[in-house]
Amino acid sequence: MNVKLLEHTPKPERTIATAARICYSPIDADELFENLSDEEVEKLVKLIIKSGHLSAVEHAVFTFAIDGISRACSHQLVRHRLASFNQQSQRYVKYLKDLSFITPPSIEENSSAKEKFDKINGMALKIYQELLEEGVEAEDARYVLPNSAETKLVVTMNARELFHFFSLRCCNRAQWEIRGLALSMIKEAKKVAPLLFKDAGPPCNRGPCPEGKFSCGEPWKKTLNPYYRI
Ligand SMILES: Cc1cc2nc3c(=O)[nH]c(=O)nc-3n(C[C@H](O)[C@H](O)[C@H](O)COP(=O)(O)OP(=O)(O)OC[C@H]3O[C@@H](n4cnc5c(N)ncnc54)[C@H](O)[C@@H]3O)c2cc1C
Repeated sequence: MNVKLLEHTPKPERTIATAARICYSPIDADELFENLSDEEVEKLVKLIIKSGHLSAVEHAVFTFAIDGISRACSHQLVRHRLASFNQQSQRYVKYLKDLSFITPPSIEENSSAKEKFDKINGMALKIYQELLEEGVEAEDARYVLPNSAETKLVVTMNARELFHFFSLRCCNRAQWEIRGLALSMIKEAKKVAPLLFKDAGPPCNRGPCPEGKFSCGEPWKKTLNPYYRI
């Protein structure tokens, strides 16, 4: 899996602090943006995160390049409706030579399961290519491709949606692959907005677990999933 932060709002924390401060300020936003001290920015960002008045956080936007994830994972990812997505098309891209398949760790660790998994993926790709040779359009030939097929996306989320995404998808209840993706995205986001994303992650990073009987029962940081690899 490769996750790279392609672009983001320049000075995301200052932008958010300016947006929060304009509500109570007699001076213009551009003046605020230039003149807020770093200490004021920090104080404002902490305050809005703590208070939960998160509309100002929407002004910071982050765009990620993601590849090396499965179609199973991308299907979970695109359920997040407030994000923007573009994904490599299996209608317009033909896999004439090769196509990667993402192997779940539980299969990777089991040689018999791995053999079966590789066999069916290989067969699916072979038949897909034979269908293309027979003149079937890629958009129809792709119906034989499995959920394990690798895909690539560009994803943009504002910081509020990222908080929400990280809450759901860094949690141990989320599947290993999207959890690995979310954790990689947090790592990238923290490089440019460490204050903003300081406590981002599953709810147990900030307080009690809301998952009830589905709770894993263990604090998040101690239980970073063994399948999670950056
Ligand atoms: C552990 C786990 C298991 C899951 N299992 C399943 C499953 O078995 N089947 C399944 O179908 N899905 C499943 N999902 C996906 C889940 O149901 C959500 O579709 C997905 O997590 C996106 O969450 P969301 O709708 O809160 O967030 P987003 O779509 O990212 O939206 C963010 C927030 O915006 C607001 N919002 C967005 N759209 C609307 C709207 N139309 N009306 C009102 N408010 C809105 C809500 O507050 C929402 O929380 C699972 C998710 C997780 C994390």
